[in-house]
Amino acid sequence: MAYATINPFTNKVVKTYPTATDEDITAAIARAHETFLTWRKTPYEERSALLSRVAAILRERKTEFAGVLTLEMGKVLREAEAEVELSAKIAEYYADYGAELLLPRVIPSKGYKPGDVELVSQPLGVLFTVEPWNFPYYQIVRVAAPQIFAGNTVLLKHASNVPQSAATFEAIMKEAGAPEGLFTNLYASHAQTELIINDPRVRGVALTGSEDAGAAIAALASKALKKSTLELGGSDAFIILDDADVDKAADWAVVGRHWNAGQVCVSSKRIIVDDSVYDRFVQRYREGVAALKAGDPLDPATTLAPLSSQGAADQLAAQVKEAVEHGARAETLGAPVPAAGAFFQPTILTNVDRDNPAYTQEFFGPVTQLFRVSGEEEAIKIANDSPYGLGGSVFTQDERRGRRVAAEIDTGMVYINQPTKVAADIPFGGVKHSGYGHELIDLGIHEFVNQKVVAVADIDGEF
Ligand code: NAP
Repeated sequence: MAYATINPFTNKVVKTYPTATDEDITAAIARAHETFLTWRKTPYEERSALLSRVAAILRERKTEFAGVLTLEMGKVLREAEAEVELSAKIAEYYADYGAELLLPRVIPSKGYKPGDVELVSQPLGVLFTVEPWNFPYYQIVRVAAPQIFAGNTVLLKHASNVPQSAATFEAIMKEAGAPEGLFTNLYASHAQTELIINDPRVRGVALTGSEDAGAAIAALASKALKKSTLELGGSDAFIILDDADVDKAADWAVVGRHWNAGQVCVSSKRIIVDDSVYDRFVQRYREGVAALKAGDPLDPATTLAPLSSQGAADQLAAQVKEAVEHGARAETLGAPVPAAGAFFQPTILTNVDRDNPAYTQEFFGPVTQLFRVSGEEEAIKIANDSPYGLGGSVFTQDERRGRRVAAEIDTGMVYINQPTKVAADIPFGGVKHSGYGHELIDLGIHEFVNQKVVAVADIDGEF
């Protein structure tokens, strides 16, 4: 797709951007490689200082940077500011802890003196990252902060509807003092991703996005024998057990399903409620959703943003229509959303049977799939009956029971008495069709480092 800023609140084209030429791309790879050759030798203090400056710049001009997100993908300004702060926290996390996370690991091994066998973390080279529009800065920084700290250099292909967010992040890196080639934004086409991945100087690929994009990029990476990490879609189960605090669960469900207009990989997309508390839960959930206020994302009173584009709203409408054609019941909630702009009326889907295509689909917007179950076992069964395995929630007043149910859920993350969360100091990643690999903390930084064995033998020792 062509790179363009289209304000989803008005559906007006603000600005278009030319796609990179193959020559631009080859030159960017060469620069990133040249920079890697020196960056990999910089002291950790220098890398840490750079990331601290990135965090400081993000915080100093939080509202300005947030405004770019609101303009391009419609996020309410308050949430956009929270994303800027979260991005600053991630940069700061690696500034503070990066050196410690990369310390050599001593391996006890028979025949060697203690300390003579080590795993030493070394950078790989130029990395390619492909990112989605739903958290334009946070998605970049989740990969860029750890990998730049590790000594790698980064090429970005961002989603085509957030070109200004991509350029803004690149400018922040430059302002913070990043040498040319350390972090490069490319307005690359889908076809050009192959050119990038096939270049021998590019050593790994990290993608966040849909299953289709993940499969396409991972296929190219594996053909070129390069490592990839994939953070893909999700359809998180939000389980309310019979002993839950139902009112609190319903209030959290409203938030979990509708923040970022429901366009979060870990949105609470499938709400699974025990029969004994179903009616009370649904009544409060309906009231909570109906109270959301759709409107201008710059208006502090707005609590329901437009979707990221008219195309996204149309696609979601088509999914709901298909679900209904296959027997689901759709109930819309709240005052009518504005007719202009990419808004979507909050909707609850019930009667979604296993043979309904909706049962296994991700709904990327304010559409809730609601299931009524008899007991914990059935709740777990439905939660796991999904191609996805990203996050999930369990609501119960018994912490031990919560942990036990969490252990049964086949996902990368489970939160007890909260929607699946994002934080700078908690790792993120899924299983099944939600992808592989992790981002954040030590797991994320180690995805693209060579953990090299260095063993020192006694010259007179045996082999
Ligand atoms: P998408 O279409 O897959 O786009 C994501 C990125 O991949 C964009 O930069 C896109 O570029 C690029 N892309 C798509 N197809 C490609 C191809 N064939 N070759 C090369 N690049 C390609 O994702 P989306 O639907 O906009 O975003 C939402 C999805 O991301 C949801 O499924 C959501 O759950 C998932 N997500 C996952 C996480 C996580 O951490 N697990 C976080 C956020 C979102 P263009 O814009 O140019 O097409």
